[in-house]
Amino acid sequence: MVTTIDKYQRVPRILRLDVAGQPKSWISWQTAVRLYTRDLVRWSVGEFKIRIRGGFSRLHGRQTLVDVSSIIACEGRIVETKKTTPTLTNHALFARDYHTCMYCGIRQNLVNLTCDHLIPRSMGGQHVWNNVVTACKRCNQAKGNRRLEDCKQELIALPYTPNLAEYLTLINSGRILGDQMSFLETQFGSSRQCRNVSNRLTSIQAPML
Ligand SMILES: [Zn+2]
Repeated sequence: MVTTIDKYQRVPRILRLDVAGQPKSWISWQTAVRLYTRDLVRWSVGEFKIRIRGGFSRLHGRQTLVDVSSIIACEGRIVETKKTTPTLTNHALFARDYHTCMYCGIRQNLVNLTCDHLIPRSMGGQHVWNNVVTACKRCNQAKGNRRLEDCKQELIALPYTPNLAEYLTLINSGRILGDQMSFLETQFGSSRQCRNVSNRLTSIQAPML
């Protein structure tokens, strides 16, 4: 399906893959056009194409058109995805945990969310995906500078390290096209699928603050 950029309420990003089909990053349509014009796009799988209109050719007077696919595979170095750990940011961490405190199970506004280290940093805990969870300010304060086993709090879901496909979903949620989501979902790991936080939320009936 070919559409134009003005048909979208929010301008979508283009999912860039390497030539082996591993998701690499989100890029703007402008960057995608440059890749097309430099002949670096090797193949595409997106169902959607965004038609970009360029300048007029001096030779034949016709306008240049580039149909940018929503998913494109480009030339570049192939890096084994398993060895790539996505950057840990609060934005991605809160998205991983559904903007929900992993102790009380209540979904919160961003201003009330914090990053809690299961093993406190003062005790040698690292700032890595498997040692951090989203916590509301109240629960974080109650846990204090203690290990999980030294306080009475329990986690509603275990932390995990997202793979690159999961990470790209987390950092771009709300702007992902259907075919991009379908593609990324095929590469989600078992850790994410095993989590049942959303089921738990239903039973808790947490308010949306
Ligand atoms: Zn809480």
